[in-house]
Amino acid sequence: MRLVSFSTTEQPVPRPGIVQDGNVIDIKLAGNVFNLTVPEHMQDLIEHYADYTANLQTILAQSNDPRVKAAQALQPLDAVTLTAPIPYPRKNIFCLGINYSEHARETAEIRQRSAEPPTAPVIFTKATTTVNGPYSNIIIDPAVSSEIDWEVELGVIIGTRGKNISEADAMSHVFGYTVINDVTARDLQALHKQFFKGKSLDGSCPMGPWIVTVDEIADPHNLTIRLRVNDVIKQDSNTSQMVHNIVKTISILSQGLTLEPGDIIATGTPSGVGFSRKPPEFLQPGDIMESEVEQIGMLRNPIVGAE
Ligand code: MG
Repeated sequence: MRLVSFSTTEQPVPRPGIVQDGNVIDIKLAGNVFNLTVPEHMQDLIEHYADYTANLQTILAQSNDPRVKAAQALQPLDAVTLTAPIPYPRKNIFCLGINYSEHARETAEIRQRSAEPPTAPVIFTKATTTVNGPYSNIIIDPAVSSEIDWEVELGVIIGTRGKNISEADAMSHVFGYTVINDVTARDLQALHKQFFKGKSLDGSCPMGPWIVTVDEIADPHNLTIRLRVNDVIKQDSNTSQMVHNIVKTISILSQGLTLEPGDIIATGTPSGVGFSRKPPEFLQPGDIMESEVEQIGMLRNPIVGAE
């Protein structure tokens, strides 16, 4: 299932939908048609997915019922505004740093650290206020940072609560996958030593366009991952190149730390980021940034200067 959160002019509060054949099925309105109990928002859907699965599948199977259209529960995707699939996460986004070997090598010299990836994963977070839509503007303010950089990443959404999760059990805690860009202010990242500030400017975590449920991705460790700026490919790799894969990441992260439904993990970016290029490149107003993960989808974010 491909699950979105979307808003319309009439309904500005994000609501959950299912994507099917270029349309979005409004789960709430379709639930009314069939008199089914359905989730109010994505957090509710993820947290109680086992309870809702049968009803969601009924809605999906019967989306051609004329009553669905009559209830305006079926709309073309381009007639709605997609927000991040989880528009208001309950906690910061967990992120892995330096989790692709080539990225470790390309950043070693400039950051004066080893070219070898770390043996234990580097883990930091992005504030919840970074969350941004899959096609939304990313507003950059030169008074705050002049070094805004891109980082396409595979996002993992946790489905079930767990602590001290073993590697054998790790995948059973995954709800689904999404595309994330860990947009980074390199100057602030370096200035403040810890990553948090440079990773947490407003709107610096575009996400989506949807969550693809775990059953639809046969092998999350073999997906092409790519980023383009103004149609020029800047990052082009495969999730097989992760240093700490999803299984290891969930197990390590959950030691003594409870993972909860709706938690988001950004699994690190491959090589090709802007600041390690010669000369360095950063995002500028007018740029179009496209972040893509195979079998999941693509974000397309215009970069806009602050007023
Ligand atoms: Mg990153």
